[in-house]
Amino acid sequence: MTAISFEFFPTQTEAGADKLQVQAQQLATSHPEFFSVTYGAGGSTRNRTRGTLLATRDATGLPVMPHMACLGHTKEEVRTILQDYQSLGIDRIIALRGDLPSGMGRLENVEFQYASELISFIREETDDHFHIEMAAYPEVHPQARSMESDLDNFRRKVEAGANSAITQYFFNTDAYFYFLDRVQAMGINIPVVPGIMPITNYMKLARFSDACGAELPRWIRKQLEAYWDDSASIRQFGEEMVSRMCEKLVANGVPALHFYTLNQSAPSLAIIKNLGLYPEN
Ligand code: FAD
Repeated sequence: MTAISFEFFPTQTEAGADKLQVQAQQLATSHPEFFSVTYGAGGSTRNRTRGTLLATRDATGLPVMPHMACLGHTKEEVRTILQDYQSLGIDRIIALRGDLPSGMGRLENVEFQYASELISFIREETDDHFHIEMAAYPEVHPQARSMESDLDNFRRKVEAGANSAITQYFFNTDAYFYFLDRVQAMGINIPVVPGIMPITNYMKLARFSDACGAELPRWIRKQLEAYWDDSASIRQFGEEMVSRMCEKLVANGVPALHFYTLNQSAPSLAIIKNLGLYPEN
């Protein structure tokens, strides 16, 4: 059966943290492989990422994976964070560059410029302790000079020691399958897990898609625009559309599905049930 994983972002308040752990327990009923928790570049969520990871592990008894974004960190800081995760028995990590908050300009004297450097550093420091995931972009990373240079970067991250990849979300499965063909043509056979974004809110999705370079196809944009603030119809359309897309991915044998839950259990669970991936007992 296709494996599943879920992504959370760290909560701001204690009330939010309690609510998130209820969502985590609901998601845990689908027997995911792991939960991941995002990280703010420059260490802006360092303690909250750690707190959310541990609370999720306590609430569900399931493995957790921290996101680690290297931009703005020194090697010494990353070393300390890695040692902490090792001592907590965490053995899976996703190594990223991260994005600086807008308006921060360029950083001077950076010790890490790209995710490939972080991946090399994690391997040098911790040998084979961590299963290292990396980010991949079937629709091309927005700052990449070209598709070719982005594929070169994918290869660099694999050569640096990444074991598998999770993609930016997409709504066009052809982009994902073409990307897989290109990766395989480079002789690379690591799992490339599609990142799945359930659709629940038009404005947020449109803003986010523009920022991260994920294409929201015109027909989906138009349909969501027509629903405007009718959130029930947006959810229903989104569930049906994303379920259909995932059906295609599963039928083509994807290694797993990674859900960007936005800290809500219901939209991801609905899709998993539609796919027949929800365990019977
Ligand atoms: P990189 O792989 O370093 O690539 C960044 C850009 O630089 C690309 O355009 C690449 O082509 C180019 N590049 C790389 N090396 C070179 C080189 N040597 N020469 C020229 N160009 C080069 N962000 C967060 O802040 N926190 C998170 O928790 C987080 N989680 C994520 C999880 C997933 C699954 C994904 C897909 C993204 C996530 N992001 C997160 C977003 C990510 O940090 C941004 O997309 C960021 O802009 C790029 O990160 P990266 O690790 O892909 O960077």
